[in-house]
Amino acid sequence: MKPETACIHAVRDATQSTGAVAVPIYQSATFAHPGAGQSTGYDYTRAINPTREHVEKLLAALEGGAEALAFASGMAGMATVLELLSPGDEMIATDDLYGGSIRLFEQVSRKNGVNTRYVDTSDLAAVKAAITDKTKAIFIESPTNPMMKVSDIAGIRELIGDREILLIVDNTFLSPYFCNPIALGADVVVHSGTKYLAGHNDTLAGFVVVKSPEIGEKLRFLQKTIGGVLSPFDAFLVTRGIKTLAIRMEKAQQNALALTRWLQKHPKVSAVHYVGLPEHPAYALSQRQARGFGAMISFSVDSAETASAILNKVELILYAESLGGVETLITHPLTQTHADVPESERLARGIDEKLLRLSVGIEAVEDIIADMERAMK
Ligand SMILES: *Cc1c(COP(=O)(O)O)cnc(C)c1O
Repeated sequence: MKPETACIHAVRDATQSTGAVAVPIYQSATFAHPGAGQSTGYDYTRAINPTREHVEKLLAALEGGAEALAFASGMAGMATVLELLSPGDEMIATDDLYGGSIRLFEQVSRKNGVNTRYVDTSDLAAVKAAITDKTKAIFIESPTNPMMKVSDIAGIRELIGDREILLIVDNTFLSPYFCNPIALGADVVVHSGTKYLAGHNDTLAGFVVVKSPEIGEKLRFLQKTIGGVLSPFDAFLVTRGIKTLAIRMEKAQQNALALTRWLQKHPKVSAVHYVGLPEHPAYALSQRQARGFGAMISFSVDSAETASAILNKVELILYAESLGGVETLITHPLTQTHADVPESERLARGIDEKLLRLSVGIEAVEDIIADMERAMK
């Protein structure tokens, strides 16, 4: 089954016989037992719920994992994954990362004894140099947020060799439609399902997909114990969103390329970062490890004034955090998504007041460009 077909048909609802085409919303906290010592397989919704189970199976199928677990948000999923580590363990993470991930690693995991070292994971030599006997996980985001750097997933797997190091990939930006990190050697894939998977900026969700049933079992225990699960209604919304994942990703990517080309010619734009440009340093690597480039762009303008004028003047494009929905959104990483990152780190990575990030939506690209043109006058 091709990915676009799998988005629609990979999982059929096995819990009922009505022929319903959409998955039913089992809005039930608990499930009655048929008799003493018996169970229908469903006991209590924190542990298992049929609507959530449906979307979990769908994610496992789309990512090619042994199992998937659905959480109330991407961060709830990631925080649960980090519980696989113990005090004294070290983690290596991409240095250009979603701000919330840095907050989790620095202000929660570090207190729990897990120290994270940030390296440019697009540089295999830097990753190799950072591995120590204590390294128990490597966390990469690819492409990175907001500088769009790409890490070689199979290359990092090779560096790990047979050491017991979990390779965790945040695949939010590409979605399983464009990239399947497990096939490239990842042990764990995490998603903010809030973004492309749900796709409509109307719900929060998170997913963790695992290569092996053993890690799956540990995470099931943690999920049930910590309890940050996806609700039945939100599981339904994400399932519905995924049905159109393929056409949304294709259209958004097409728009992103056209918008990038337009931005490159604009006199007030000094740099554009988009993985889908043949001149992007990781274009060839991206083609090897993904079926597409996604629709996230960042770009620098000539001054802080131009950047704030754009944010003030856009009309069709919404000045809002988040990404991956049908609407085109613009953000200012310095003051929004990366506000909690120490200034020296931000500046070293090029996240300054002149940098803007676009999550390109699926509107007519002519309308997106017209809005940008007006806002940049
Ligand atoms: C949004 C996002 C997250 C966090 O997900 P939430 O659903 O907002 O909790 C993690 N990683 C990336 C790359 C994201 O864009």
